Amino acid sequence: MINRRPLICRGCQSKIVTRTQIGLGDSQNHSFVCPTCGVTISFTMDLDQEHTSFSYGEPKNADWTDDERGAIGAVALSQEIPVPVAGKHGFVTSTGPTTSPYLETFSYLEDWKEYRHSEELRLAFVRRYDEFERSIKHFERRAWPLFDAAMRIEEQPPTVRTRLIDFYGAIQSELCLFTRTPRSMYDRIRQRLVLANSKEPTLMQELGEMYVASGRMSKLWKEIAENRSAFISEYKGLQPLVQMRYWREELRDPTSFVVSTKRFDSLRQLYLNSFETLCRLLVIGKMVEAVIHASSLDIPLAKRSVTLEEFEAFPNAVKCTHFASMAIGDLFQDALDTDLRNGIGHHAAHYEADSDEVLYFRSKGSAVVEGRLSYTEFCNRLLQLFAVVELGCVYHHWLHISVDGRLA
Ligand SMILES: [Zn+2]
Repeated sequence: MINRRPLICRGCQSKIVTRTQIGLGDSQNHSFVCPTCGVTISFTMDLDQEHTSFSYGEPKNADWTDDERGAIGAVALSQEIPVPVAGKHGFVTSTGPTTSPYLETFSYLEDWKEYRHSEELRLAFVRRYDEFERSIKHFERRAWPLFDAAMRIEEQPPTVRTRLIDFYGAIQSELCLFTRTPRSMYDRIRQRLVLANSKEPTLMQELGEMYVASGRMSKLWKEIAENRSAFISEYKGLQPLVQMRYWREELRDPTSFVVSTKRFDSLRQLYLNSFETLCRLLVIGKMVEAVIHASSLDIPLAKRSVTLEEFEAFPNAVKCTHFASMAIGDLFQDALDTDLRNGIGHHAAHYEADSDEVLYFRSKGSAVVEGRLSYTEFCNRLLQLFAVVELGCVYHHWLHISVDGRLA
Protein backbone atom coordinates (compact mmCIF):
# COMPACT_ATOMS: atom_id res chain seq x y z
CA MET A 1 0.00 0.00 0.00
CA ILE A 2 1.20 3.46 -0.96
CA ASN A 3 0.23 6.62 0.86
CA ARG A 4 0.52 9.99 -0.87
CA ARG A 5 1.13 13.14 1.05
CA PRO A 6 2.38 16.44 -0.36
CA LEU A 7 4.80 18.70 1.46
CA ILE A 8 6.37 22.09 0.87
CA CYS A 9 10.15 22.50 1.09
CA ARG A 10 11.12 25.19 3.58
CA GLY A 11 14.24 25.98 1.59
CA CYS A 12 12.56 26.98 -1.68
CA GLN A 13 8.77 26.48 -1.27
CA SER A 14 8.70 23.68 -3.89
CA LYS A 15 5.75 21.39 -3.44
CA ILE A 16 6.60 17.70 -3.67
CA VAL A 17 4.33 14.68 -3.36
CA THR A 18 5.73 11.90 -1.16
CA ARG A 19 4.56 8.42 -2.12
CA THR A 20 5.42 6.21 0.80
CA GLN A 21 5.17 2.44 0.77
CA ILE A 22 3.59 1.30 4.02
CA GLY A 23 5.84 -1.45 5.36
CA LEU A 24 5.44 -4.16 7.99
CA GLY A 25 7.44 -2.66 10.86
CA ASP A 26 6.40 -0.23 13.59
CA SER A 27 8.06 2.89 12.23
CA GLN A 28 9.97 4.05 9.20
CA ASN A 29 12.30 6.98 8.56
CA HIS A 30 12.72 8.48 5.14
CA SER A 31 14.79 11.24 3.69
CA PHE A 32 15.32 12.70 0.24
CA VAL A 33 16.85 15.76 -1.29
CA CYS A 34 14.69 18.60 -2.60
CA PRO A 35 15.39 18.55 -6.34
CA THR A 36 15.10 22.35 -6.54
CA CYS A 37 17.27 23.61 -3.69
CA GLY A 38 19.20 20.54 -2.49
CA VAL A 39 17.98 20.68 1.11
CA THR A 40 17.50 17.27 2.74
CA ILE A 41 13.91 16.67 3.80
CA SER A 42 13.17 13.86 6.21
CA PHE A 43 10.23 12.51 8.16
CA THR A 44 9.20 9.58 10.31
CA MET A 45 6.09 7.50 9.97
CA ASP A 46 4.70 5.47 12.86
CA LEU A 47 2.80 2.33 11.95
CA ASP A 48 0.29 0.45 14.02
CA GLN A 49 0.11 -2.97 12.39
CA GLU A 50 -2.53 -4.25 14.79
CA HIS A 51 -5.00 -1.53 13.88
CA THR A 52 -3.65 -1.11 10.34
CA SER A 53 -3.17 2.60 10.87
CA PHE A 54 -0.26 4.98 10.58
CA SER A 55 0.68 8.55 11.39
CA TYR A 56 3.26 10.96 10.07
CA GLY A 57 5.69 12.90 12.23
CA GLU A 58 6.51 16.52 11.45
CA PRO A 59 8.99 16.65 8.56
CA LYS A 60 12.38 18.27 8.89
CA ASN A 61 13.00 21.16 6.45
CA ALA A 62 9.44 20.96 5.07
CA ASP A 63 5.77 21.34 6.07
CA TRP A 64 2.90 19.01 5.25
CA THR A 65 0.18 20.39 3.07
CA ASP A 66 -3.16 18.96 1.95
CA ASP A 67 -3.30 20.07 -1.62
CA GLU A 68 -1.25 18.49 -4.41
CA ARG A 69 -1.91 21.28 -6.93
CA GLY A 70 1.26 22.92 -8.20
CA ALA A 71 3.56 20.06 -7.13
CA ILE A 72 6.77 19.86 -9.15
CA GLY A 73 6.89 16.06 -8.92
CA ALA A 74 6.79 13.04 -6.69
CA VAL A 75 9.29 10.99 -4.76
CA ALA A 76 8.89 7.27 -4.11
CA LEU A 77 9.91 6.07 -0.63
CA SER A 78 9.98 2.58 0.78
CA GLN A 79 11.70 1.03 3.72
CA GLU A 80 11.52 -2.51 2.50
CA ILE A 81 11.87 -2.19 -1.23
CA PRO A 82 14.76 -0.78 -3.28
CA VAL A 83 13.39 2.22 -5.15
CA PRO A 84 14.40 2.30 -8.83
CA VAL A 85 16.53 5.32 -9.69
CA ALA A 86 13.95 6.95 -11.94
CA GLY A 87 15.06 10.51 -12.53
CA LYS A 88 17.26 11.46 -9.60
CA HIS A 89 17.15 9.41 -6.37
CA GLY A 90 13.65 8.09 -7.01
CA PHE A 91 12.28 11.56 -7.86
CA VAL A 92 9.96 11.82 -10.87
CA THR A 93 8.63 15.06 -12.29
CA SER A 94 5.14 13.69 -12.76
CA THR A 95 2.62 13.48 -9.95
CA GLY A 96 0.28 11.37 -12.04
CA PRO A 97 -0.24 7.68 -11.34
CA THR A 98 3.02 5.78 -11.75
CA THR A 99 3.99 2.25 -10.91
CA SER A 100 4.89 1.86 -7.27
CA PRO A 101 8.35 0.52 -6.36
CA TYR A 102 6.52 -2.53 -5.09
CA LEU A 103 4.89 -3.30 -8.42
CA GLU A 104 7.97 -2.34 -10.35
CA THR A 105 10.20 -4.73 -8.46
CA PHE A 106 7.64 -7.47 -7.77
CA SER A 107 8.56 -9.30 -10.97
CA TYR A 108 12.25 -9.16 -10.01
CA LEU A 109 11.70 -11.69 -7.23
CA GLU A 110 12.74 -15.24 -8.08
CA ASP A 111 9.92 -16.59 -5.96
CA TRP A 112 7.67 -14.05 -4.30
CA LYS A 113 5.99 -16.63 -2.04
CA GLU A 114 9.35 -17.65 -0.66
CA TYR A 115 10.33 -14.01 -0.20
CA ARG A 116 7.06 -13.14 1.56
CA HIS A 117 7.34 -16.14 3.86
CA SER A 118 10.99 -15.48 4.70
CA GLU A 119 10.28 -11.78 5.34
CA GLU A 120 7.62 -12.78 7.87
CA LEU A 121 10.16 -15.05 9.56
CA ARG A 122 12.76 -12.26 9.61
CA LEU A 123 10.34 -9.79 11.16
CA ALA A 124 9.25 -12.37 13.72
CA PHE A 125 12.90 -12.97 14.59
CA VAL A 126 13.54 -9.21 14.92
CA ARG A 127 10.53 -8.91 17.22
CA ARG A 128 11.62 -11.73 19.52
CA TYR A 129 15.33 -10.98 19.39
CA ASP A 130 15.26 -9.79 23.00
CA GLU A 131 14.66 -13.46 23.94
CA PHE A 132 18.04 -14.30 22.47
CA GLU A 133 19.61 -11.37 24.29
CA ARG A 134 18.18 -12.61 27.56
CA SER A 135 19.40 -16.13 26.80
CA ILE A 136 22.92 -14.75 26.42
CA LYS A 137 22.72 -13.25 29.92
CA HIS A 138 21.24 -16.47 31.33
CA PHE A 139 24.06 -18.44 29.74
CA GLU A 140 26.73 -16.17 31.21
CA ARG A 141 25.19 -16.61 34.67
CA ARG A 142 24.61 -20.32 34.16
CA ALA A 143 20.94 -19.74 34.98
CA TRP A 144 19.84 -22.94 33.25
CA PRO A 145 16.09 -23.05 34.03
CA LEU A 146 15.75 -19.53 32.64
CA PHE A 147 17.96 -20.32 29.66
CA ASP A 148 16.05 -23.51 28.86
CA ALA A 149 12.71 -21.74 29.10
CA ALA A 150 13.82 -18.84 26.87
CA MET A 151 15.39 -21.16 24.30
CA ARG A 152 12.60 -23.76 24.56
CA ILE A 153 15.16 -26.48 25.14
CA GLU A 154 13.32 -29.80 25.34
CA GLU A 155 16.09 -32.36 25.17
CA GLN A 156 16.44 -34.33 28.38
CA PRO A 157 18.70 -33.98 30.18
CA PRO A 158 20.47 -31.09 28.45
CA THR A 159 24.14 -30.42 29.12
CA VAL A 160 25.99 -27.13 28.76
CA ARG A 161 27.39 -28.47 25.53
CA THR A 162 24.04 -29.47 23.99
CA ARG A 163 22.54 -26.16 25.11
CA LEU A 164 25.28 -24.25 23.36
CA ILE A 165 24.98 -26.35 20.22
CA ASP A 166 21.22 -25.63 20.15
CA PHE A 167 21.74 -21.93 20.84
CA TYR A 168 24.37 -21.36 18.16
CA GLY A 169 22.47 -23.56 15.69
CA ALA A 170 19.26 -21.60 16.21
CA ILE A 171 20.78 -18.15 15.93
CA GLN A 172 22.93 -18.99 12.91
CA SER A 173 20.08 -20.51 10.97
CA GLU A 174 17.84 -17.52 11.73
CA LEU A 175 20.55 -15.10 10.60
CA CYS A 176 20.95 -17.08 7.38
CA LEU A 177 17.50 -15.78 6.48
CA PHE A 178 19.07 -12.32 6.30
CA THR A 179 22.33 -13.21 4.56
CA ARG A 180 21.20 -16.08 2.31
CA THR A 181 24.65 -17.64 2.66
CA PRO A 182 24.59 -21.15 1.12
CA ARG A 183 25.08 -23.99 3.59
CA SER A 184 28.03 -25.23 1.52
CA MET A 185 30.07 -22.19 2.62
CA TYR A 186 29.51 -23.01 6.28
CA ASP A 187 30.44 -26.60 5.54
CA ARG A 188 33.78 -25.56 4.07
CA ILE A 189 34.75 -23.93 7.37
CA ARG A 190 33.50 -26.88 9.40
CA GLN A 191 35.56 -29.20 7.21
CA ARG A 192 38.73 -27.29 8.11
CA LEU A 193 37.89 -27.60 11.80
CA VAL A 194 37.11 -31.30 11.51
CA LEU A 195 40.32 -31.89 9.58
CA ALA A 196 42.45 -30.02 12.13
CA ASN A 197 40.76 -31.83 14.99
CA SER A 198 41.18 -35.29 13.47
CA LYS A 199 44.84 -34.56 12.76
CA GLU A 200 45.80 -32.89 16.04
CA PRO A 201 43.06 -33.27 18.67
CA THR A 202 45.41 -32.30 21.51
CA LEU A 203 46.53 -29.10 19.79
CA MET A 204 42.94 -28.12 19.06
CA GLN A 205 42.05 -28.69 22.71
CA GLU A 206 45.04 -26.55 23.66
CA LEU A 207 43.87 -23.82 21.29
CA GLY A 208 40.46 -23.79 22.98
CA GLU A 209 42.08 -23.58 26.43
CA MET A 210 44.34 -20.76 25.22
CA TYR A 211 41.30 -18.78 24.10
CA VAL A 212 39.52 -19.30 27.42
CA ALA A 213 42.54 -18.53 29.61
CA SER A 214 43.53 -15.39 27.70
CA GLY A 215 40.00 -13.93 27.79
CA ARG A 216 39.72 -14.09 23.98
CA MET A 217 36.80 -16.50 24.19
CA SER A 218 34.64 -14.21 26.29
CA LYS A 219 35.72 -11.09 24.39
CA LEU A 220 34.54 -12.67 21.14
CA TRP A 221 31.36 -13.95 22.80
CA LYS A 222 30.51 -10.37 23.77
CA GLU A 223 31.53 -8.81 20.47
CA ILE A 224 29.55 -11.31 18.42
CA ALA A 225 26.48 -10.72 20.59
CA GLU A 226 26.84 -6.94 20.29
CA ASN A 227 27.24 -7.04 16.51
CA ARG A 228 24.22 -9.29 16.13
CA SER A 229 22.09 -6.99 18.29
CA ALA A 230 23.24 -3.96 16.32
CA PHE A 231 22.49 -5.72 13.06
CA ILE A 232 19.00 -6.65 14.21
CA SER A 233 18.25 -3.08 15.26
CA GLU A 234 19.65 -1.74 11.98
CA TYR A 235 17.66 -4.19 9.88
CA LYS A 236 15.26 -1.41 8.91
CA GLY A 237 18.01 0.35 7.04
CA LEU A 238 19.19 -2.80 5.26
CA GLN A 239 15.87 -4.40 4.31
CA PRO A 240 16.00 -3.36 0.63
CA LEU A 241 19.38 -5.07 0.20
CA VAL A 242 18.07 -8.23 1.84
CA GLN A 243 15.16 -8.14 -0.58
CA MET A 244 17.55 -7.69 -3.49
CA ARG A 245 19.12 -11.03 -2.56
CA TYR A 246 15.77 -12.62 -3.47
CA TRP A 247 15.79 -11.08 -6.95
CA ARG A 248 16.85 -12.84 -10.11
CA GLU A 249 20.60 -12.66 -10.14
CA GLU A 250 21.02 -10.53 -13.26
CA LEU A 251 18.84 -7.80 -11.76
CA ARG A 252 20.76 -7.39 -8.51
CA ASP A 253 22.48 -4.12 -9.29
CA PRO A 254 22.81 -1.80 -6.31
CA THR A 255 23.70 1.13 -8.59
CA SER A 256 20.21 1.19 -10.12
CA PHE A 257 18.34 1.43 -6.84
CA VAL A 258 17.98 3.76 -3.91
CA VAL A 259 17.65 2.83 -0.25
CA SER A 260 15.29 5.46 1.07
CA THR A 261 16.01 4.98 4.77
CA LYS A 262 19.34 6.66 5.53
CA ARG A 263 21.13 5.62 8.68
CA PHE A 264 24.76 6.19 7.84
CA ASP A 265 26.10 6.99 11.30
CA SER A 266 24.86 3.82 12.93
CA LEU A 267 25.58 1.63 9.89
CA ARG A 268 29.12 3.03 9.79
CA GLN A 269 29.69 1.90 13.38
CA LEU A 270 28.27 -1.53 12.61
CA TYR A 271 30.57 -1.78 9.58
CA LEU A 272 33.67 -0.88 11.61
CA ASN A 273 32.82 -3.20 14.49
CA SER A 274 32.01 -6.07 12.14
CA PHE A 275 35.33 -5.64 10.37
CA GLU A 276 37.27 -5.80 13.63
CA THR A 277 35.35 -8.88 14.74
CA LEU A 278 35.94 -10.58 11.40
CA CYS A 279 39.70 -10.04 11.75
CA ARG A 280 39.63 -11.55 15.24
CA LEU A 281 37.61 -14.55 14.06
CA LEU A 282 39.93 -15.19 11.14
CA VAL A 283 42.89 -15.31 13.50
CA ILE A 284 41.31 -18.55 14.75
CA GLY A 285 41.05 -19.61 11.11
CA LYS A 286 44.75 -18.92 10.71
CA MET A 287 45.53 -21.01 13.81
CA VAL A 288 43.42 -23.87 12.46
CA GLU A 289 45.41 -23.76 9.20
CA ALA A 290 48.66 -23.78 11.22
CA VAL A 291 47.46 -26.94 12.98
CA ILE A 292 46.59 -28.56 9.64
CA HIS A 293 49.74 -27.58 7.76
CA ALA A 294 52.42 -27.39 10.45
CA SER A 295 50.98 -29.36 13.38
CA SER A 296 51.73 -26.30 15.47
CA LEU A 297 50.04 -23.42 17.27
CA ASP A 298 52.64 -21.07 15.84
CA ILE A 299 51.63 -19.56 12.53
CA PRO A 300 54.06 -20.31 9.69
CA LEU A 301 54.68 -17.27 7.48
CA ALA A 302 57.02 -17.03 4.48
CA LYS A 303 60.25 -16.59 6.45
CA ARG A 304 59.46 -17.51 10.03
CA SER A 305 56.75 -18.66 12.38
CA VAL A 306 54.96 -16.23 14.67
CA THR A 307 52.96 -16.72 17.83
CA LEU A 308 49.30 -15.87 18.12
CA GLU A 309 50.16 -12.63 19.96
CA GLU A 310 52.72 -11.61 17.34
CA PHE A 311 50.26 -12.26 14.53
CA GLU A 312 47.51 -10.28 16.26
CA ALA A 313 49.87 -7.31 16.57
CA PHE A 314 50.24 -7.01 12.77
CA PRO A 315 48.34 -4.16 11.13
CA ASN A 316 44.95 -5.19 9.73
CA ALA A 317 46.12 -4.77 6.14
CA VAL A 318 48.91 -7.33 6.68
CA LYS A 319 46.61 -9.72 8.49
CA CYS A 320 44.02 -9.45 5.73
CA THR A 321 46.60 -10.46 3.10
CA HIS A 322 47.35 -13.57 5.17
CA PHE A 323 43.65 -14.33 5.65
CA ALA A 324 42.98 -14.08 1.94
CA SER A 325 45.71 -16.64 1.19
CA MET A 326 44.15 -19.33 3.40
CA ALA A 327 42.49 -22.37 1.84
CA ILE A 328 39.09 -20.83 2.61
CA GLY A 329 40.31 -17.26 1.93
CA ASP A 330 38.10 -16.87 -1.14
CA LEU A 331 35.04 -16.89 1.15
CA PHE A 332 36.26 -13.71 2.85
CA GLN A 333 38.37 -11.95 0.24
CA ASP A 334 35.77 -9.47 -1.03
CA ALA A 335 34.82 -8.36 2.46
CA LEU A 336 38.43 -7.85 3.56
CA ASP A 337 38.70 -4.42 1.93
CA THR A 338 41.06 -2.52 4.22
CA ASP A 339 40.99 0.60 2.01
CA LEU A 340 37.27 0.88 2.50
CA ARG A 341 37.56 -0.04 6.17
CA ASN A 342 40.14 2.69 6.82
CA GLY A 343 38.30 5.19 4.64
CA ILE A 344 35.02 4.63 6.48
CA GLY A 345 36.88 4.75 9.80
CA HIS A 346 38.41 8.14 8.95
CA HIS A 347 36.89 10.90 11.07
CA ALA A 348 35.92 12.84 7.93
CA ALA A 349 33.84 9.99 6.41
CA HIS A 350 30.22 11.04 5.96
CA TYR A 351 27.03 10.68 3.98
CA GLU A 352 26.41 13.35 1.35
CA ALA A 353 22.69 13.70 0.78
CA ASP A 354 22.92 15.67 -2.45
CA SER A 355 24.75 12.91 -4.32
CA ASP A 356 23.34 10.10 -2.14
CA GLU A 357 26.89 8.89 -1.66
CA VAL A 358 29.15 7.90 1.19
CA LEU A 359 32.44 9.80 1.14
CA TYR A 360 35.41 8.01 2.61
CA PHE A 361 38.96 9.16 3.06
CA ARG A 362 42.35 7.65 3.23
CA SER A 363 45.52 9.34 4.34
CA LYS A 364 48.18 9.06 1.66
CA GLY A 365 51.30 10.69 3.03
CA SER A 366 50.04 14.07 4.11
CA ALA A 367 47.34 14.18 1.43
CA VAL A 368 43.86 12.82 1.95
CA VAL A 369 42.32 11.09 -1.02
CA GLU A 370 38.59 10.84 -1.22
CA GLY A 371 36.58 7.85 -2.39
CA ARG A 372 32.87 7.71 -3.12
CA LEU A 373 30.37 4.92 -2.90
CA SER A 374 26.63 5.14 -3.51
CA TYR A 375 24.68 4.83 -0.28
CA THR A 376 22.97 1.71 -1.63
CA GLU A 377 26.33 0.12 -2.45
CA PHE A 378 27.59 0.94 1.03
CA CYS A 379 24.58 -0.87 2.54
CA ASN A 380 25.26 -3.77 0.19
CA ARG A 381 28.89 -3.97 1.32
CA LEU A 382 27.80 -3.90 4.94
CA LEU A 383 25.40 -6.78 4.39
CA GLN A 384 28.16 -8.74 2.61
CA LEU A 385 30.48 -8.09 5.54
CA PHE A 386 27.88 -9.16 8.08
CA ALA A 387 27.33 -12.37 6.09
CA VAL A 388 31.02 -13.32 6.24
CA VAL A 389 31.29 -12.41 9.92
CA GLU A 390 28.54 -14.98 10.46
CA LEU A 391 30.66 -17.48 8.53
CA GLY A 392 33.70 -16.61 10.63
CA CYS A 393 31.62 -17.15 13.78
CA VAL A 394 31.72 -20.88 13.00
CA TYR A 395 35.34 -20.85 14.22
CA HIS A 396 34.45 -19.24 17.52
CA HIS A 397 31.37 -21.35 18.10
CA TRP A 398 33.19 -24.59 17.37
CA LEU A 399 36.01 -23.67 19.74
CA HIS A 400 33.57 -22.53 22.41
CA ILE A 401 31.62 -25.80 22.18
CA SER A 402 34.90 -27.76 22.33
CA VAL A 403 35.64 -26.30 25.79
CA ASP A 404 32.09 -27.11 26.96
CA GLY A 405 30.95 -23.51 26.81
CA ARG A 406 33.44 -22.11 29.27
CA LEU A 407 34.03 -18.38 29.01
CA ALA A 408 36.63 -18.04 31.73
ZN1 LIG B 1 13.72 23.02 -1.78
